[in-house]
Amino acid sequence: MSDFWQRNVLYFGLLALVALVTGLSSGAANGFATLAAGLLIFLAYQLWQLRKLERWLAQPGSRWTPDAGGVWGEVFSRLYRLLRTQTQSQERLSTALDRLLQVTSAMPDGVLVLDEEDRIALCNRAAEEHLGIDPERDIGQQITFLVRDPRFVTYLSAGSPGEPLVLRLPRNLERALSLQLVPYGEARRLLISRDVTRLEQLETMRRDFIANVSHELRTPLTVVGGFLETLSDAEKPEPAMTRRALALMSDQTRRMQRLVEDLLTLSRLEDDHNLPREEEVDVPDLVRVLHQEAQSLSGGRHRIRVRIESGLWVRGAPDELRSAFGNLVSNAIRYTPEGGQITLAWEGVSGQVAFSVADTGIGIPAEHLPRLTERFYRVDRSRSRETGGTGLGLAIVKHVASRHQARLEVSSQPGKGSCFKVLFPAKRTVQPRARVVAEAG
Ligand code: ADP
Repeated sequence: MSDFWQRNVLYFGLLALVALVTGLSSGAANGFATLAAGLLIFLAYQLWQLRKLERWLAQPGSRWTPDAGGVWGEVFSRLYRLLRTQTQSQERLSTALDRLLQVTSAMPDGVLVLDEEDRIALCNRAAEEHLGIDPERDIGQQITFLVRDPRFVTYLSAGSPGEPLVLRLPRNLERALSLQLVPYGEARRLLISRDVTRLEQLETMRRDFIANVSHELRTPLTVVGGFLETLSDAEKPEPAMTRRALALMSDQTRRMQRLVEDLLTLSRLEDDHNLPREEEVDVPDLVRVLHQEAQSLSGGRHRIRVRIESGLWVRGAPDELRSAFGNLVSNAIRYTPEGGQITLAWEGVSGQVAFSVADTGIGIPAEHLPRLTERFYRVDRSRSRETGGTGLGLAIVKHVASRHQARLEVSSQPGKGSCFKVLFPAKRTVQPRARVVAEAG
C-alpha cells in the first residue's frame, strides 16, 4: 500500500475515532456531525484538485504542472510525463514521415500507396506526374477511376502481380509507363510507376538494327549461295559462266566485308569506354590526301577542287577523322552524276574551323535531312546499294564528330547538290606543329 493510501486509512481511522469519542461524550448526533464535517472537508479538497486538473488539461502543451501534494501531485506528475512522452514520439513520427516524403518525392520513380480497397492513400510527385493525380482531388479516390485501361484493371485484380505492366496512358501517348504492384502489410499494395519510354525506344532500335543487319547480309549471301549451288550442280561449268559467277561472288563478298567493317567501326565509336585518341592531326595535309583519293575514286567523271584556307590542326584521333571525312567524300562522288563538281574545303567559320564537302549532285529532299545520320537510313535505296553504300557512312560521321565535340551540318537542295560540314570548336584546334618548330628555330 502506498504512503498516500496508508495516510488516508489513518485519517479515516482518526476521523472515526474522533466521531466515536464525540458521540460517546456528547451524544450520537454530535458524533455524526463531526464525521459529516470531516467528510465534507475531504470532498471539498478532492473537488478543488479536480478543478485544477480540469484547468490544466484545458491548456494543451502547457509546460507547468499544478501545485499539489499527496496523490494529486503524483497524478499530475505522471500525467505530465505521459503527455511529454506522447509529444516526443509524435514529433519523432512526424520527422520520420517528413523525411520519408522528402525521399519519395526525390525519387524518379512514382510511388503510390493503395489501401485495402485500392484507393489512393499517399503518392509522391513522380506518381502524380506519371498518372495525372491531383492530390487535393484524388487522395481517397479509387485508382481505377484514374487509370481506366482494362489491362490495368485486370492486372490490379489478378492478385499475384508478377511482371510489370507497360502502358501508354491517353493523357500522354508519347510516354511508356511501367506499372508494378508490390504487396506489403496486410492487403495493402504499393504501385511503382516508371518512365520506360527511352528503354522502349532502345529496344525498338535494337530490334530494327538486328532486322536491318540480317536484311543487308541476306541478299549477298543468297547471291553467293545461289552461284555456289549452280557451280557445284554443273557437271562441266563453262569457263565464261564460272568467271562471271566468281566476279559476282567477289562483289557480294566485298559488300559484306564493307558492311562488317562499318559495323565494327560503329561499335568501336559507340563504346563510351573507348575514348578518341588525342593526337595533333594535320588536317590540311589530310584534306590534300583525300583530294587525291577522290580523284582516283571519281576516275575523271567529276571536277574535284580543294580549298585550304586554314592552317590549323585538330586535336583528335587521326584514323577516326580520316574515316569520317572519307565517308563524306565518297558520298559526294557516289551521289553526284558525271560532269558534276565536288569541292573539299578546310576553313575558319566564325571562331570555329570546318571541313566541308560540297557537291552539285542529286541533293536530298528536306524531309529526309533530320534522319540522315540514323543507321541504315537511305534516301535513294537502290542508288546507295548500286554504288556500294552500307547505309552506315553518315552514322559513323556523326559519331566521330560528337566524339570530337564537333557538329555536323547538312544543307541540300534536290537536283542542285548538297554540302556536308563538320565544324570543330576552337578548343579542339591546335597551331600547326611545323610552324611552332620554325618559329622556335
Ligand atoms: P550510304 O552508304 O547509303 O551512302 P550514308 O549513311 O553515307 O549511307 O548516307 C545515308 C543516305 O544519305 C544515303 O543513302 C543517301 O541517300 C543520302 N546521302 C548521303 N550523302 C549524300 C550526298 N552527298 N548527296 C545526296 N544524298 C546523299
